[in-house]
Amino acid sequence: MKRKVLLAEDDPVFRDLVTEILQEAGYEVLAGENGQEAWELLVAKGADLAVLDLNMPILDGLELTKRIRGDDRYKELPILMLTVRAFVEEQIAGYDRGADDYLTKPFDRKMLAARLKVLERRILGK
Ligand SMILES: [Mg+2]
Repeated sequence: MKRKVLLAEDDPVFRDLVTEILQEAGYEVLAGENGQEAWELLVAKGADLAVLDLNMPILDGLELTKRIRGDDRYKELPILMLTVRAFVEEQIAGYDRGADDYLTKPFDRKMLAARLKVLERRILGK
């Protein structure tokens, strides 16, 4: 059974790229173009891990993380946050809201898969 990754990314080119990387790494991907859409996908279909872009319209990655952590059904969901900005303040804000790890764009495609595997092992115990 493939593990399911919830992806929230507003940049279509990047969304397609990350989807491809995750699928190649053996994950099933549910992709939404903003935090609200991703939230609806999560509620409708569930997920084992989440990769959330920080900067998105409608509902950004920080707000989505806060919503996930505030909901008993999803509060243990491993979250990897993505951002183009390397500002320390943003990364700290992400951790404050409950993100488990951070990756700054652009990143090596193998690095994304490797970091997700770590989260999977550490949090999901596999
Ligand atoms: Mg964005």
